[in-house]
Amino acid sequence: MKKPLFALLILLPILVCAQTDDRIYDIIDAVSAERIQTDVTKLVNFGTRHTLSDTISQTRGIGAARRWIKSEFEKTSGNCGDCLEVFYQKDLIKKGDNERIVHDVMVVNVVAIQRGTKYPNRYIIMSGDIDSRVSDPTDFTSDSPGANDNASGMAGTLEAARVLSKYKFENSIIYVGLSGEEQGLYGGKGLAAHAKKNGWEIIGVLNNDMIGNISGVDGIIDNREFRIFSEPVPPTETEKERNARRFYGGEVDGISRQLARYVYKNTKTYMPEMNPMMVYRLDRFGRGGHHRPFNDAGFAGIRIMEAHENYTQQHQDIRNENGTAYGDVLEHVDFDYARKLTAVNAINLASIAWAPPAPKEVKIGGIVEPSARLQWSKVDGASSYKIYWRDTTAPQWEHSRNVGNLTQFTLKGIVIDNSFFGVSAVSADGFESPVVFPNSIIR
Ligand SMILES: [Zn+2]
Repeated sequence: MKKPLFALLILLPILVCAQTDDRIYDIIDAVSAERIQTDVTKLVNFGTRHTLSDTISQTRGIGAARRWIKSEFEKTSGNCGDCLEVFYQKDLIKKGDNERIVHDVMVVNVVAIQRGTKYPNRYIIMSGDIDSRVSDPTDFTSDSPGANDNASGMAGTLEAARVLSKYKFENSIIYVGLSGEEQGLYGGKGLAAHAKKNGWEIIGVLNNDMIGNISGVDGIIDNREFRIFSEPVPPTETEKERNARRFYGGEVDGISRQLARYVYKNTKTYMPEMNPMMVYRLDRFGRGGHHRPFNDAGFAGIRIMEAHENYTQQHQDIRNENGTAYGDVLEHVDFDYARKLTAVNAINLASIAWAPPAPKEVKIGGIVEPSARLQWSKVDGASSYKIYWRDTTAPQWEHSRNVGNLTQFTLKGIVIDNSFFGVSAVSADGFESPVVFPNSIIR
């Protein structure tokens, strides 16, 4: 009789502390590898989705592809009582804008907004790309399946919309297919400008670009590892902010990095079988992705992608050369891996969309004092706040303390000099905002 009670007493605090939510596990389970396979196959079958390709045909080219993507979002919306606002967002790009724009083209994104119940103008965004390319970036007629780059990210985005549209969220979620990526990140640029013009409050962008390859050119086959790219600090920071970093720190604590840490931690909590790899840089060495235009506009944005790339299967004409088969074809996509990375997106979209906004202002003090002091602005909808801290050399937040519904707290015995600190807002059911690094000093 004693044993079970003893076990319960030990377990109880763990259960209380863990603060996991069963809905997140349901979301993971609901993501379907079969539907992702169907969608990647469909996208590949448009022959080419090059941004400059045919827009009239019903079966081939980017026009047919985007109309199909729109119809899929509309179908999803039909299944949730019209819960998605689906529309095209487009910009005309003139011939010669760069050397890859060889004729005038309308760059068209397909946007689906799942409107938040409490913060309708706050958005967490998942993006994939519609467009594809082969060896020559201006070749808009050859077969360009773009199965992994980036039908995988597009299919993941469509699937996340299907799964999450079964729920209601406090913040808005945007699912978007972006175009013009391979021609110079035009779609992201267009949507970021649209967001600015319309006063969207973007919490962050999870950009998915290549989430289906598990067999790398480095010889490694791995279906659990994936990369999260994030730039250290926003490019929009002021000279004053840059200068302040010399004295107060924050070189690796920009808004995109906090979003990356959020995704890392949340994935480890709910999908511990996965191995997220934080990469402390904007993107791959010298290469680009559609999170960048959002970063350029001052928004948080990260790239989620496979850990091991295969360059013979990206941006390649389909051909055989010296025994190597080149081309981004369907056969190389691992749909179960794409399912896992789609689930990673979905649980982070849901967690953030269920969380209150982060505190706008976080102040820190404690110079020549034995304890660090933190103060933050009150958040409507937060039921408590969590202080995080870590060694200055640690990549992740190491320690945290939920201090309840206060707006200031002193961490007794924690000297300000030897750690970095941050604060998040927490909802009644335990969903957290991304962490905010102090942006002001208590004098
Ligand atoms: Zn590409």
